[in-house]
Amino acid sequence: MAQPRIIIVGGGFGGLAAAKALKNTPVEIILIDRANHHLFQPLLYQVATAVLTPSQIATPMRSILRKQKNTTVILGEVTGIDKERKCIFASNADRENVPIVYDYLILATGSTHSYFGHNEFAEYAPGMKSLADAVASRNKILQAFEQAEAEEDPSRHRDLLTFILVGAGPTGVELAGALAVLVRTTLKSEFRRIDPASARIVLVDMAPRVLPPFSEKLSKAAKQRLEKLGVEVRLGHSVDQIDADGIVVAGERITSKTVIWTAGVSPSPAGKWLNVETDRAGRVRIQKDLTVPGHPEILVVGDTASLDQNGKPLPGVAQVAIQQGRYAAKVIHSRVMGTPPPGPFSYFDKGSMAVVGKGFALLQSGKVQASGFGAWLTWAFVHLQFLATSSLRLSVFLQWVWTYVTGQRGSRLIVNHHGTQPVKVAEVAPRKPAAA
Ligand SMILES: Cc1cc2nc3c(=O)[nH]c(=O)nc-3n(C[C@H](O)[C@H](O)[C@H](O)COP(=O)(O)OP(=O)(O)OC[C@H]3O[C@@H](n4cnc5c(N)ncnc54)[C@H](O)[C@@H]3O)c2cc1C
Repeated sequence: MAQPRIIIVGGGFGGLAAAKALKNTPVEIILIDRANHHLFQPLLYQVATAVLTPSQIATPMRSILRKQKNTTVILGEVTGIDKERKCIFASNADRENVPIVYDYLILATGSTHSYFGHNEFAEYAPGMKSLADAVASRNKILQAFEQAEAEEDPSRHRDLLTFILVGAGPTGVELAGALAVLVRTTLKSEFRRIDPASARIVLVDMAPRVLPPFSEKLSKAAKQRLEKLGVEVRLGHSVDQIDADGIVVAGERITSKTVIWTAGVSPSPAGKWLNVETDRAGRVRIQKDLTVPGHPEILVVGDTASLDQNGKPLPGVAQVAIQQGRYAAKVIHSRVMGTPPPGPFSYFDKGSMAVVGKGFALLQSGKVQASGFGAWLTWAFVHLQFLATSSLRLSVFLQWVWTYVTGQRGSRLIVNHHGTQPVKVAEVAPRKPAAA
């Protein structure tokens, strides 16, 4: 008899956890993802600020699952689902909307960044969700310094060396801190016409405080730390405009050539594919066993799912996705093996952490609240544990030690389609003759 086929869409935290947990179940698993790699998103900001290389936070899924014989990895983009025929539609470079049938379906397609209805901002303020996004931000940041060095008109330095981050959640705060350390230490003595340390870093958010998921006390500690690093934190006002010249916030224009979007996220279109009830954000409303109402064969996990616990929706964080992925595997295992199903899903919150610059982090777990170097060591240890392979853990650990001790970063390369983008000739003024 043919084994039941399980399609898992998405090899992020939730999908990969589900696939691994089904390793010993007698099923055929097809894991489909539009990327060929599993990405450790919490460290994307370190790629954007040149601490780590892209390959240090991402691993080919094929390689992670190479020993798992019941799993086939397919590179493809899922474009729709037919619930009644029990098939998904996937496209790749050669073929479009190919139907693939399933007995069980796990949707783990995550989320993307949301411009809160202002999609026109995307052109000027790239988000931070994929490896390509992080490399694009790194290009933008490093390119700004190169252009400023080539520019002899000091009045233009200010605009080129102003960096604006929109969104003071964990990504914005971590990026602002890492950027501040980059400009004040790593780049310090490498330029002749500009002083990288004079760069202006502005973190903007409409919320009244940074890091809303953390307690007020830790949020205050984060803000103080950012200000100590020279980051300008501007809270309580939403951004009215983003264009080629910078942003407008609270009626004031801040001129900048580098704006990065680190604000909200919106879920994948899984709810539309399924044509089922979603929450206001568009996440699929699931039941306590993570299935879609009326469809016990479809489970949704991670950022693209909406489930309340203790009257509150579960947050879009990696731990929720991992725990749900493992739970979804248990549900399917029990059905296939004819064993009793697990009890309702219950998220175990291990806590939250965020880094602010060098050697300083925040930690909040139950009643424990800490900030400083100890929290930073815990942060580093925990993040190393969650990297996909032991070679990554070793390589990231060594890079962090090297960066901590020397201030040097691993990957300060500007990479684009044309090689290093030439600075526009018109912008390079002739050198002034040295004063006699
Ligand atoms: C910059 C950043 C920093 C973060 N920092 C933290 C942190 O410090 N701590 C924390 O707990 N959480 C953090 N998060 C959130 C965390 O990464 C997410 O909650 C988690 O990744 C959700 O897991 P997931 O499996 O639902 O989705 P993801 O991990 O996003 O995986 C979704 C997968 O689905 C694939 N996919 C999507 N659509 C399709 C499609 N149509 N066809 C095929 N494949 C598709 C994607 O390529 C991706 O591989 C961060 C997120 C970001 C963006």
